[in-house]
Amino acid sequence: MNDKNKLLRKLPKIDFVLDNLEHKNDDVPLSIRKAAVRETIEEFRQQILSGLCTELPRTQKEWDALFNEVIDKKNSPNLQRVINGTGVVIHTNLGRSLLGRQTMSALQNAASHYTNLEFDLSTGKRGSRYSLVEDIICDLTGAEAALVVNNNAAAVLLSLNTLSYKKETIVSRGQLVEIGGSFRIPDVMSRSGAEMVEVGATNRTHLFDYENVIHEETGLLLKVHTSNFRVIGFTSEVPIHDLVTLGNKHGIPVMEDLGSGSLIDLSPWGLPKEPTVQDIVAAGTDVVTFSGDKLLGGPQAGLIVGKKEIIARIKKNPMNRALRIDKFTLASLESVLRDYYDMNHALESIPTLSMLTAHPDTIKKKGHRVIRRLGGAQKIKACIGLQKTVSRVGGGAMPEHGLDSWALSLQPGATGASAFEKWFRGLEIPLIVRIEDNKMLIDLRTILEDDIPILVQILTQFMDKRQDA
Ligand SMILES: *Cc1c(COP(=O)(O)O)cnc(C)c1O
Repeated sequence: MNDKNKLLRKLPKIDFVLDNLEHKNDDVPLSIRKAAVRETIEEFRQQILSGLCTELPRTQKEWDALFNEVIDKKNSPNLQRVINGTGVVIHTNLGRSLLGRQTMSALQNAASHYTNLEFDLSTGKRGSRYSLVEDIICDLTGAEAALVVNNNAAAVLLSLNTLSYKKETIVSRGQLVEIGGSFRIPDVMSRSGAEMVEVGATNRTHLFDYENVIHEETGLLLKVHTSNFRVIGFTSEVPIHDLVTLGNKHGIPVMEDLGSGSLIDLSPWGLPKEPTVQDIVAAGTDVVTFSGDKLLGGPQAGLIVGKKEIIARIKKNPMNRALRIDKFTLASLESVLRDYYDMNHALESIPTLSMLTAHPDTIKKKGHRVIRRLGGAQKIKACIGLQKTVSRVGGGAMPEHGLDSWALSLQPGATGASAFEKWFRGLEIPLIVRIEDNKMLIDLRTILEDDIPILVQILTQFMDKRQDA
């Protein structure tokens, strides 16, 4: 008998393991324990067969430790809270925007009670879910009509499909971008059934480029915010005003995919000057699309605003039903939108906005508070400091834009920064840090008030661990 067969025969039997396993959590459902044990043994079997495993755990204790680890993992939620120490405010991989307290209570209310989601309380008849937010969106953006769908990708797909199905959409070559997470303008365009007509050069497109290709098959003039991509140097884009004038002249609708779509000009807080949604609507654009969870600071959603007649056509598209927004999103979106009736209130109560506009001094003070709770500068001076850093806006219109900030900087000692970075990621509440110059940086801009006690615990463990090393 060869070695592989010998090892395979020594693998424990599932029933034996389950009967004899010493596990602290007897309340873990049997189905989970069973699946975990089966998967662990199967993993060993595969590794033996492929020659990667040449030795098995020796004692029952060692086996049990392995099984229990897999059982615990299988029994805990996959979607976990993490602490964002990266300083990237709209971090797509960490869930983009957070909801404030009042919005959470609106969400909770809608989730645990019946609502008038599609019920008109004044007539007692069927209502429309979109009417719950349409007036508010129109108030805030100045648009004639509005519609909300699952996300901005859906908003673009639905608008293109409605306005340009089997017709041509003219778009500048410089705007055929891919936005992370597999959203590519040319691909979305082809799936929408619109035919893409590219004009201009990568760096420069002029109004005559559009005008030259307009004919009876043209359905739409499209402008796309290039978001995470920038052409610098000898460049030119056609302003939305001019596209609108051209569209009006030929009776062709004009659409802009704004991506982030801010309702507030954030340049007074050091962010780039970007036209707001209101500006684009005021330019006479027929359709404007933007995300709910980027600069707006709400839940995942795609907002479509524009001219009444055009939005009415989009609403009637049967595809709309497949892309529709759910009641949790509607409840939280309405609450976030209402915050915008008072801009100062919005800046305070919408976490994305309050983090983006936080003053560096306030961020630094947060760092001092953490240090004080760690026992003061004296105690930590060897391994934790406070230093200047640069946060990033993240997802959407200005991803690389830097904001002056402050970070806790952790000296890894002999253990090394990447070993600690991994250890932080594996904690019960994982902490995501940045490594810079062989130090771990925790940017305090994205550290929330209720992260602080946990961060203090983690850093205390970190200091102990460093001393052990
Ligand atoms: C982010 C973005 C999208 C995709 O929006 P989602 O809400 O993530 O679906 C589309 N277009 C632009 C220009 C974007 O910036």
